[in-house]
Amino acid sequence: MMAPRIHIKQKQSRCPACQLHILIVGAGLAGLGSAISCALAGHGVHVLEAAAEIKEIGAGIQVLPNSSRVLQYWGLEEVLTPHMTHPSVCNFNGWKGNKISHLDFHESASHYPGTWYRDFHRADLQRCLMERALELGVQITCNARIRTVRVSNDGATATAIAVDGRQWESDLVIGADGVFGKLTEELLGRSDPPVKTGDLAYRLLLSTEDMRKDPELAPFVDKPQVNYWLGPDAHAVNYVLRGGHLFNMVLLVPDDIPETGASTIEGNVEEMCALFKGWDPRIKKLLKLCQSVQKWRLCIRFGDFDWSHPSGSWVMLGDAVHATLPYLASGAGMAFEDGAVLGECLSRLPNRPNIMKTSPEFLNAKKHALSVFQQCRKERTKMVVDRGNIQQYLYHLHDGPEQQERDRKMQMIPTPEGE
Ligand code: FAD
Repeated sequence: MMAPRIHIKQKQSRCPACQLHILIVGAGLAGLGSAISCALAGHGVHVLEAAAEIKEIGAGIQVLPNSSRVLQYWGLEEVLTPHMTHPSVCNFNGWKGNKISHLDFHESASHYPGTWYRDFHRADLQRCLMERALELGVQITCNARIRTVRVSNDGATATAIAVDGRQWESDLVIGADGVFGKLTEELLGRSDPPVKTGDLAYRLLLSTEDMRKDPELAPFVDKPQVNYWLGPDAHAVNYVLRGGHLFNMVLLVPDDIPETGASTIEGNVEEMCALFKGWDPRIKKLLKLCQSVQKWRLCIRFGDFDWSHPSGSWVMLGDAVHATLPYLASGAGMAFEDGAVLGECLSRLPNRPNIMKTSPEFLNAKKHALSVFQQCRKERTKMVVDRGNIQQYLYHLHDGPEQQERDRKMQMIPTPEGE
């Protein structure tokens, strides 16, 4: 059966009096995604980013069928195609290397025609999003660290104020400043620190050249696949990137980053290797190829509050309100969905030459749009945050009856014929 084509969204035309001037704080995957979506809805968009340049730190990212649909809708499929790696299977192993089960990605994606499951280097994904945003007329300013947002007395406008005193006025501020961002606290007017999960991530990128020389490691790069090892209090995930030139590896282990100070710090390779003593010998071999590594504290946000200001001129999205453990590979996917839904809600604002943005009808419609956005997104993102926590429990079981029951259930997932 031919997969139905996803209709690429065309830029909406709006009469100038009804075109919002939107400021987005943060040029991460959430900020750039919502910039594209709001620009396609016909609004003017300006992204303010604290960093001196837009570059993604980190390594690989998996894009699941739900978010692939959004990226296609935004017109990104063609530019993303050369950067995609197409894994065929996902293997689940025990920590000693014993195979538990596997998932066939073609089979799982076939339930959602026209969608795909792909792996990217984050830098490639982020650059494609940024270029699409610029193509749609989005303005991006770096070196703009926003300290606070001030809402006007009539609630019609919101001004983003940078730490160096610069100010930008807008009809709507979208806060996308990530899990450790401060704007959510500004919005709530109270302290709301991200919740520590007790885990941290070591993120590694290895060259596949050396791996190909070792007959035990070569199979990991010869056939694009995602591999998991589940063990006591920790798990490891890996997959190839950039047509097999790079190997992405993430190790999820108990958080030992000192309480005070940065959430990302330099790691120690020997210390990291020691954590995987006794695991599948192939993991030991892979870790030996690593020269240096960073540790990232993993925090979450439950988002159990109003994501928008009562005035309707300020809203938050992405990790800033619903950061999840990465154990379902869905945080960025949720951010893309946020952007798509918000853009759709804002595309429905009144669009007639005789109505002004400051009129009660328009301001009420703007408030309503943000309230619908939140209603559409809150329950779904909360489910992902909760399931990420359940996954943490299940992936990190110690050997014993519960672990055996988990493995038995994983083996019940149907596999393709003949395997
Ligand atoms: P961020 O990426 O944190 O972006 C926030 C931006 O705001 C940054 O550019 C920052 O500089 C800027 N900023 C912060 N404060 C200010 C300020 N005051 N003023 C201006 N700018 C500011 N998700 C998936 O879908 N698939 C995966 O496979 C996956 N794997 C993951 C693996 C790991 C180890 C981790 C940790 C996460 C993973 N995720 C994955 C989750 C995903 O990375 C995040 O959900 C996503 O990147 C969040 O994007 P964001 O734009 O909300 O936040």
